[in-house]
Amino acid sequence: MSVEKKDMEKIVALCRRRGFIFGSSEIYGGIGGFWDYGPLGVELKRNIKDAWWEDMVRNPPIGPDGKEFQMVGVDCSIIMNPKVWEASGHVGGFSDPMVDCKTDGCKGRFREDQLCESPCPLKPSKMAGDFEKCALTEAREFNLMFQTHVGALQDNSSVAYLRPETAQGIFANFKNVMDSTRVRIPFGIAQIGKAFRNEINPRNFTFRSREFEQMEIEFFCHPDESKMWYEFWREVRIKWYESLGIRSDKLRPREQGEEELAHYSDACTDIEYLFPFSEETQELEGVAHRGSFDLNAHGKASKGKETAFAVVDPATNERFVPHVIEPSAGVDRFTLAAITEAYSFDENRASPEFMKFHPRLAPIKAAVFPLVGKDGMPDIAEPIYRDIKKRIPCQYDTKQSIGKRYARMDEAGTPFCFTIDGQTKEDGTVTVRNRDDASQDRIDKSRCLEFLQDQLGL
Ligand code: ATP
Repeated sequence: MSVEKKDMEKIVALCRRRGFIFGSSEIYGGIGGFWDYGPLGVELKRNIKDAWWEDMVRNPPIGPDGKEFQMVGVDCSIIMNPKVWEASGHVGGFSDPMVDCKTDGCKGRFREDQLCESPCPLKPSKMAGDFEKCALTEAREFNLMFQTHVGALQDNSSVAYLRPETAQGIFANFKNVMDSTRVRIPFGIAQIGKAFRNEINPRNFTFRSREFEQMEIEFFCHPDESKMWYEFWREVRIKWYESLGIRSDKLRPREQGEEELAHYSDACTDIEYLFPFSEETQELEGVAHRGSFDLNAHGKASKGKETAFAVVDPATNERFVPHVIEPSAGVDRFTLAAITEAYSFDENRASPEFMKFHPRLAPIKAAVFPLVGKDGMPDIAEPIYRDIKKRIPCQYDTKQSIGKRYARMDEAGTPFCFTIDGQTKEDGTVTVRNRDDASQDRIDKSRCLEFLQDQLGL
């Protein structure tokens, strides 16, 4: 069953009802482009970040040359010296073309390149510019960086920016990392963290937010090998999404055309996903070949020399500025993709809506229920729950009917539930209920943890 456009509303409602995602500061009417993750959402997002860190940083894939390579992590500050953003080109050029509508009662602001996807605030059935009353201005450049001031003085000398990407913290620390570790080219530096962009039109739930998280790798390699590493990372990143349950027919690697490429970029592939809110696939991650642009720019701006961050190949004594391949993924976009991919509806089930999360991503992996809160059932159930909980996120629930408890776990995407019932007392077996087909089986009560580890591959 494929998820349709109309399902987006159901997905947003489920996210809110079950505590995946809430609007930020909702009690005051919210604030456009900012979101809060609730108890289930925060676990899902953490599982995504943990999976990325585990698979890319702690245990990265083998390189295209059949050899292991090194990958290390950093966690840089959000506010950096503003010179970073001058050197990177963000102060001068990190902008989108914005148009205003001058019509009374509208005052809408839109990205010029996204007019055909932006409904007119006065007549939402038409797109901005298509309604006869629309009076759009010429486009002007709008810088997306949020500004703030550092220190007590609020003048031009104290202006600073909230980082619009995590990448620059990595470039600014390139030398620190090389000097403080034994990494040698080719190697990667990874970071997960918040980024901020004052998007003109935040929309499509969390897809385009003003505060979001990124998972970025800057991979440094010899210029002659950069094409090989670019192709390698593109492949690795697509397979990673597939390994976490994203169906390949919904993923599309889209190579950017010459006219789309940033001026410093040699090549870029957007890994796109077919979200239910659009007929077109939308970017989940960009894998960019950035050449030596960033290291050159920071070398020149901070040390006066483009080649300040050159490295020496110990085998050949060749001195070169490494090239960079950047797989840059959005945590929130993948969280939304994982939610839409998991969303399932089957009207023949007692609980029609259920979330088929990949076992690694499921916020809760198992639940334990005593069928009733008496007859010694809780005494059997509690130790089983405690045993599982030490290793695997598990919940214990005694409230409401067993059907309602299964339904709640289905909506949370919990793969297995164990129920302790009358038969448990007779033969020591418990009911195992499978989320995906609602089937039930019996296993010995001593095997619950082992069963989970086996079935979930954890
Ligand atoms: P878009 O074209 O959608 O604005 P981008 O090409 O500007 O995205 P990048 O600068 O390549 O995005 O950022 C890398 C990743 O960060 C994106 O692939 C996306 O997953 C995430 N990202 C970027 N902007 C946002 C945003 N406003 N909200 C949520 N995630 C974002």
